[in-house]
Amino acid sequence: QHKLCMIPGPIECHEDVLTAMATPATSHIDPSFIQVFSETLKGLRQVVGTTSGQPFVVSGSGTLSWDLAVCNLVETGNRALVLSTGLFGDRMVDCLETYGAQVDVLRPADLGGVPDQAQVRAMLEKAGQSGTPYKLVTITHVDTSTGVLVDVQAVSKLVKEVSPTTLVLVDGVCSVAAEPLYMDDWKIDVVMTASQKALGCPPGLAIIVVSPTALNVWKTRKTKVASYYASWAKWFPVMQAYEACKPLYFATPAVQLVMALRVGVQQLLAKGMEHVYETHRTASDEFKKMLHDWGLRTLPTSSEVAAHSMTAVYYPPNVKATNLLSSLSHHGVLVAGGVHPSLAGSYFRVGHMGLSVLEPERGYLRKTETALQRALTESGYNTSA
Ligand code: PMP
Repeated sequence: QHKLCMIPGPIECHEDVLTAMATPATSHIDPSFIQVFSETLKGLRQVVGTTSGQPFVVSGSGTLSWDLAVCNLVETGNRALVLSTGLFGDRMVDCLETYGAQVDVLRPADLGGVPDQAQVRAMLEKAGQSGTPYKLVTITHVDTSTGVLVDVQAVSKLVKEVSPTTLVLVDGVCSVAAEPLYMDDWKIDVVMTASQKALGCPPGLAIIVVSPTALNVWKTRKTKVASYYASWAKWFPVMQAYEACKPLYFATPAVQLVMALRVGVQQLLAKGMEHVYETHRTASDEFKKMLHDWGLRTLPTSSEVAAHSMTAVYYPPNVKATNLLSSLSHHGVLVAGGVHPSLAGSYFRVGHMGLSVLEPERGYLRKTETALQRALTESGYNTSA
């Protein structure tokens, strides 16, 4: 029997998304598929709030979206600043270093918080004064390991004010289509994401959207891109061709996944992005309030820095991780354990993106709440105490 998948991605998919994948073999240059790809690219632009950004959709997981951005923008010796709010920020350092970047990392004073804006400013200024400003700054919009939300608009504004040539890259794997994000208005240069979270599709597609400024930086690089599959030189013409409804081949796209993504994107746009954001915010606030009313503690240090796409919750004292998670599973609901190495066994994570909040009549979140209350009670914790 299917257990409700309430982890912070992959998430439950709409029947129409799943049906879109049950398509007989279709050529990747069939006119009907090219049309689907074109609509998907145009739709993605609207989802992230850009008119001039260039979307890329490439087979692979969210991690490939990092390589797709980083390998094309970084040249050996370039400086990068990572604002890390958890495991994914820390892993971004590794990704940047793989392509030869010299990386500085800024972390919050306490895990669960966000880096201090004054410190970000100081680091940008210092790099500028040294004559080698940061080529790019990366921000994890929602770090899925901690459930921390960063104010991307404020950070981007600061970066562009202090260091105008520095590119702003946003890891939106756990935020795109759940947290408000306006690429053009906020002057973001690259949004990186994937199909399996708030976009409501199965895993398997890496997605990036690149600003004209970032494309220019790529065009004027002096050295060769150190990747074959992730090189924009290969994919940029393909994306442009698909959007213009012309066939062009570099590597076979995941035809059925792109068909699913078109449906996912169109469903979001039909609901309206503002409605989508508002619904995630309200559902998340209510869910967190319920947990706090039960006496549970959430990982982010304040409600201002708490994500609306997911919740990271500490186990109450005396409740064993394995007991709670297996009891929840017994009640038909899957949530995820903690993954941050320094806190791993002490918290769990619930995803509330896409269908579970956009179509509350399905009762996914209600079922999760009921199952969680039962599982806590069975583990010896009294939610009404
Ligand atoms: N960034 C963030 C914020 C994520 O949550 C994840 C996946 N949980 C990734 C990157 C990597 O994505 P994937 O697992 O699809 O490679």
